[in-house]
Amino acid sequence: MTLKVGVIGTGMIGQDHIRRLTTVLSGVAVTAVSDIDADRARAAAPEGAEVFGTPQALIRSDAVDAVVICSWGPAHEEQLIDCIAAGKPVFCEKPLVTSEKAALNVMEAEVAFGRRLVQVGFMRRFDADYRRLKAVIDSGTLGAPLMYHSVHRNASVPEGLYTSEMPLNDTLVHDADISRWLLSDEIAAVEVRLPRRSTRGGELRDPHFVLLHMAGGALVDVEISVNIAYGYDIRGEVSCEQGIAALPNRPATVVSDRHGIRQAIPEDWRERFIEAYDQEFREWILAAGQGTATGPSTWDGYAATLVADAALRAVASGGREVIAMRDKPALYETAMSKAA
Ligand code: NAP
Repeated sequence: MTLKVGVIGTGMIGQDHIRRLTTVLSGVAVTAVSDIDADRARAAAPEGAEVFGTPQALIRSDAVDAVVICSWGPAHEEQLIDCIAAGKPVFCEKPLVTSEKAALNVMEAEVAFGRRLVQVGFMRRFDADYRRLKAVIDSGTLGAPLMYHSVHRNASVPEGLYTSEMPLNDTLVHDADISRWLLSDEIAAVEVRLPRRSTRGGELRDPHFVLLHMAGGALVDVEISVNIAYGYDIRGEVSCEQGIAALPNRPATVVSDRHGIRQAIPEDWRERFIEAYDQEFREWILAAGQGTATGPSTWDGYAATLVADAALRAVASGGREVIAMRDKPALYETAMSKAA
């Protein structure tokens, strides 16, 4: 059976996901697209795909079994709730939404529907290196985790994204989610320290040093640099009671010549996580074909949203901002896949 997918938002990542859904993965076809910019949607539409004037019309169409949301964050809430109302599985790029209220609205709709339909695009959980790292931690051979050092560096960000909130709303959510997943714990409080501002970014507040206090007492420090010029660099190291486990740099050819010994650095997230994105969609297609969702859930998107909100408050207060989570609905208790 071929899963008929409609893609909302045909910008940078929307186009990349259309490419993987049409040329890399099997059992799936992109049958519909929609974008606020109709010309962009038409240009991105694969052969035979219908171009819809509104996300709502795409979601309701019989040509669509399941939906992929790649619009910008503030539009996600309404589109997710429309997908749930239509009973259609939906993959939503991170961030799930951009406020606690919006996250709760989506969660309430999904809980009322009674079955998981939403998967959030936290692709690191599908990366082979992160999965090996988690397997080592979960095996217990190194003892309990005490600290996790996470590094998230982007070469640059598009002009339109040069706001002071962007590194915390759009970037920190990946580190928040992977910290919760690796350490199997919730984040209880957040602090943010601001080093001297990089002179490269104009008004951009960059970099950030974030401290996440896990509920069980472990600490996570996160360097977020979104404008560091040299490339896309994701690293991490977990310190446990009897050893450490580190996320390796990506395997790449080692070149030795008269300039020295070196390895190429990925240009951006598309290159570094190309296999993780493919794998997250493989698992999404399987679940969506059965009318449900596995992998990172609405609860995980809610948790990451609370962390981003707390981090923004921490920048303003200079102090430690506590996170108050509501009780976890039973719908999100079952670990349904390796990535859940
Ligand atoms: P982008 O290039 O700006 O593309 C977003 C597209 O959605 C644009 O064409 C935009 O049109 C359109 N759009 C905005 N509001 C819409 C609405 N209400 N209905 C339909 N279309 C709408 O941004 P992007 O980089 O692709 O990012 C899209 C999403 O993916 C964001 O949530 C981002 O955080 C996420 N993302 C995730 C990763 C990851 O690693 N998982 C990486 C990159 C991006 P206009 O340009 O005219 O507004």
